[in-house]
Amino acid sequence: MIDNITAMKRKNILACISVKRICLFCMSVLLLLNTAACGMRKPVRYEATFLQLFDTKTTIIAYTNDKEEFAAHSRLIYDTLSEYHQLYDIYNSYEGINNLKTVNDNAGRAPVKVDRRIIDLLKFSKQWHDKTDGKVNVAYGAVLRIWHDYRQRGMNDPDSAELPPVDMLAEAARHTDINRIIINEAESTVYLADPEMSIDVGAIAKGYATEQASRIAMEAGFTSGLISVGGNVRAIGSKNAQGHPWNVGIQNPETGEKLPDLHILDIMDASLVTSGIYERYYTVDGIDYHHIIDPDTLFPSTDYKSVSILCRDSGMADALSTAVFNMDIDQAVEFIEGLPEVEGFWVLKNGGFRYTSHFEDYIREP
Ligand code: ADP
Ligand code: MG
Repeated sequence: MIDNITAMKRKNILACISVKRICLFCMSVLLLLNTAACGMRKPVRYEATFLQLFDTKTTIIAYTNDKEEFAAHSRLIYDTLSEYHQLYDIYNSYEGINNLKTVNDNAGRAPVKVDRRIIDLLKFSKQWHDKTDGKVNVAYGAVLRIWHDYRQRGMNDPDSAELPPVDMLAEAARHTDINRIIINEAESTVYLADPEMSIDVGAIAKGYATEQASRIAMEAGFTSGLISVGGNVRAIGSKNAQGHPWNVGIQNPETGEKLPDLHILDIMDASLVTSGIYERYYTVDGIDYHHIIDPDTLFPSTDYKSVSILCRDSGMADALSTAVFNMDIDQAVEFIEGLPEVEGFWVLKNGGFRYTSHFEDYIREP
């Protein structure tokens, strides 16, 4: 199935690829179909992949009349995503840019003048924090950094992998109050009022940036295409003039990348975002500890292997896929059912599945 794309996350793809400060546009365009021999101009499938953005693999697919048309669209999408990547980066600095790392570095010291796109992301994140009772919290950096460091050490040296001390996590959790992110829209500044706190937008930024890039591309005439940023998939329009939907697979969390997808969905003008325990984890005493942290326990949530959210807005799908990971199944299903035009699919730890009422309507007929 050449039109398939699987909503799978690729972990540490960049581990051995140097991230360039100046983002190079190194697109590879693959011509996968030939124009029909009859002389009629038939749209051709093109695909571009990039490894520089959001610590993951980005893929753009579209059927266009020629290579130049595809290249113009994918360049715009790449350039837009690249700007968002730099603004939302918490690990690297970029010349002439105040990004989220700058905001974190100035915690408790001074407000930082920032681009409007940082303020918009933080407002969006705060909104979903409040709606989900704090299950997704971008002010959780202090706790997430501890898990990140222990996970990195455990992955590098599995024999000495250990869990973070509970006291250390509890102390860090005292510095996660999202209301202490002070946004001054008139001045266009962000100030972290607690010197010990930090922002981590890993749960939301990829999806949010994908949504913004999609909208910018649509305004520029990109009426049909698929954008996947590390498995955050955004379908624009339908696949072709006949109105056929795009086909997007959901990875089987049990079997990794090699075996068939759990489901393939037919989607148009929609996003499919999956959070899974197979993405980033390390093992201590035979137990895997993944990267989504439940604010109630300060430990990785234990109920699911993966959660997939289907709705139009990719930022919303990303925020929700992380948030409902931290809810028990009945609460999670009820919460998603209560949101208009949002569907969810859960792979439970025991292997069972749960769906919201209309998720299965999108599963492609075999
Ligand atoms: P991925 O980043 O693999 O696509 P998610 O969208 O589920 O997966 O986001 C997971 C990331 O979000 C973690 O790596 C971490 O940076 C951050 N995170 C983990 N738990 C939380 C939480 N409860 N609230 C906010 N962010 C979180
Ligand atoms: Mg998410």
